[in-house]
Amino acid sequence: MYPRWHILSGAILALLVWIAAPDLNFLYILLLFFSSFLMDVDHYFCSVAKTRKLGLFNAFNYNEKLVEEEKRKHKQGLKEKSDFHLFHTIEAHILIGLLSLFWVGFFYVLLGMIFHSLLDLYCLLFLEKRLYVREYFFVFWISRRLKKTDKSFGKQDKSRNPQQEHRQGKNKRQQQDNRRSQINSA
Ligand SMILES: [Zn+2]
Repeated sequence: MYPRWHILSGAILALLVWIAAPDLNFLYILLLFFSSFLMDVDHYFCSVAKTRKLGLFNAFNYNEKLVEEEKRKHKQGLKEKSDFHLFHTIEAHILIGLLSLFWVGFFYVLLGMIFHSLLDLYCLLFLEKRLYVREYFFVFWISRRLKKTDKSFGKQDKSRNPQQEHRQGKNKRQQQDNRRSQINSA
């Protein structure tokens, strides 16, 4: 879902809460509003990590192209995971939920995050029909990363076979590119 829709829907939600509870500390209304779209800051971090550029416009451009590419693959029947978005995981929600036990402001941050995530889920499930694209659990993502690291160590060991090393030598660079793109697509 585009950030502008998150900002608009977050503003409507914050306004409704404000109307329903006008005596509520305005800071909580602001926390609810800002968390409902700033949660997508993890998309920005991914863009900076992949492109090594800090510009916000570059991040929008990167994410737009990423989604286009994912939709193209979806049409081809390829079901690949997108970038990993930490703040969109169940664990991030649980962490903020636990923090809300210590300060009520986090409860409104959590409400904004849940609202954001429900909108994202609605988009992925009903509009784009590609729910598989997101990793919802941090533990699953980290275990996949560890398995890939194990496999790449295995490949390094096998390459000590001189014959195999010779065969692999010609396309070593290609393999490294493939491996990098596999890791990037996690
Ligand atoms: Zn999002």
